[in-house]
Amino acid sequence: MITLQDKNILVTGASQGIGREIAISASKLGATVTIVGRNVKKLQETISLLSGNGHKMQAVDLSNAADIDELISQSLPYDGVIFNAGIVEYLPVKFLNESKINAVFSVNFDSNVVLSQKLIKKKLLNKKASLVFISSISSKLGVGGTAMYAASKAALISFSKVLATELAPQGIRSNSICPGIVKTAMTEQANDAASEEELKKAELEYPLGYGEPSDVAGLVMYLLSDMSKWMTGSDLIIDGGFTLK
Ligand code: NDP
Repeated sequence: MITLQDKNILVTGASQGIGREIAISASKLGATVTIVGRNVKKLQETISLLSGNGHKMQAVDLSNAADIDELISQSLPYDGVIFNAGIVEYLPVKFLNESKINAVFSVNFDSNVVLSQKLIKKKLLNKKASLVFISSISSKLGVGGTAMYAASKAALISFSKVLATELAPQGIRSNSICPGIVKTAMTEQANDAASEEELKKAELEYPLGYGEPSDVAGLVMYLLSDMSKWMTGSDLIIDGGFTLK
């Protein structure tokens, strides 16, 4: 039986989608959760969906170093941190420019590096804490138009592996997860231009269909719990069989 009783968990990007579901699941398993994102109204909605008491929310733009400092100053040591916030940008390489590169990397990669470094330096990770980085199956593929998204998510996996080595002496674990397509606002945005027929055809590429946020949250619960105490440095694919072929 998985339990997160007495664990203090931070979830980034929890105002909607996968992050919201992770926060809900963690609270159901007994964790006290701190959720961050930019949209205060949606963060409040997430808070209202959590089980138990003592949960906190904070408006944080992770691409802003001062916001991360403020989050750190309000933090108590965590037993788990889910680095989930992310943005997507679909653009062929020939249309990229410095500001578009920076926009994606600053949220999907840089912010996670800065946040983890500050958590480490300020001793805000308890012994045996579990860090979980939400990467993407895109990091393993070469889908046209996804260069910056895929590269930022691949960088995240490498970062997580290095952290796993550096933090193992303190009993802190670091793993990443590579989801295939999960039905959230992010994928709706990507599907805006596609016809109904194209969408149906695309989902058929997934033997088990597209995922739900709860599918990813389930794996995160395992990684947060002591049941995964021997697992670190892994990058786990969860994609309904998409990459089987
Ligand atoms: P959503 O777009 O639904 O949610 C993204 C979350 O990230 C929101 O809560 C948003 O909060 C937060 N966020 C974005 N930018 C910032 C920022 N600058 N500062 C703080 N928070 C920010 O996406 P999903 O739930 O679908 O995705 C969650 C994660 O899973 C992402 O990292 C994504 O790349 C990854 N993923 C998703 C897949 C999918 O198919 N959905 C597949 C593979 C990976 P707010 O707007 O309040 O700032």
